Amino acid sequence: MASLQIGEKENTCLQHIVRHSKSMAQLFFEYGAMSSGKSIEILKVAHNYESQGRKVLLMTPITDTRAGVGIVASRIGLSREAVKVQPEQDLYQFIKSMNNDNLAVVLIDEAQFLAAEQVDQLAYVVDDLNIPVMTFGLKQDAFNHLFEGSKRLIELADKLEEMKTICSFCGKKATTQLRIVDGKPQREGAQVFIGGDEAYIPTCRYHWFHPDQDKVTEMFPQTQE
Ligand SMILES: [Zn+2]
Repeated sequence: MASLQIGEKENTCLQHIVRHSKSMAQLFFEYGAMSSGKSIEILKVAHNYESQGRKVLLMTPITDTRAGVGIVASRIGLSREAVKVQPEQDLYQFIKSMNNDNLAVVLIDEAQFLAAEQVDQLAYVVDDLNIPVMTFGLKQDAFNHLFEGSKRLIELADKLEEMKTICSFCGKKATTQLRIVDGKPQREGAQVFIGGDEAYIPTCRYHWFHPDQDKVTEMFPQTQE
């Protein structure tokens, strides 16, 4: 009996090694500044999978105006509904329940808004369920600090990819974004702006520190009321 038990244990180890050596799934994080085309990219990836008859789970922490419905919307007007990520939701349990062995990929937009634990749960999805997870989002906020979700993704992702866009002031690569409220750059405030009348412009680091106010005024003329 003793040898059988050892044999079973060895067999379990072997299955574990085989499972992991066969595992192709990875955790991706594609990040970029505002307006770098992340939402267009995610819609494109979803379309590519679906055109091959493969099942995609599209999720986002951003809510549409209709209660409870997520939306992935690009600046050029394409959009589609997505499953809303709830703030405290266990993504591993949710994705496992949605899987039924036929999910080809999980796509997550606005991944900067995920909690660190939810990123850990996505890593379990990749490693334990062998489903690729592709996340898209901003790396840092308007004050040049990493978002919680992005920080954890940078720590855990198998693959990081930068989506490029250009600085609105000089045309060099934009690495961040400047928040404009009432026609003026905001140097401090809440990470997620509450109030709704803000705008963001992609900038290089230099112009994030030294924004050209004349150009900002040109871009956002203030109407006198
Ligand atoms: Zn610049």
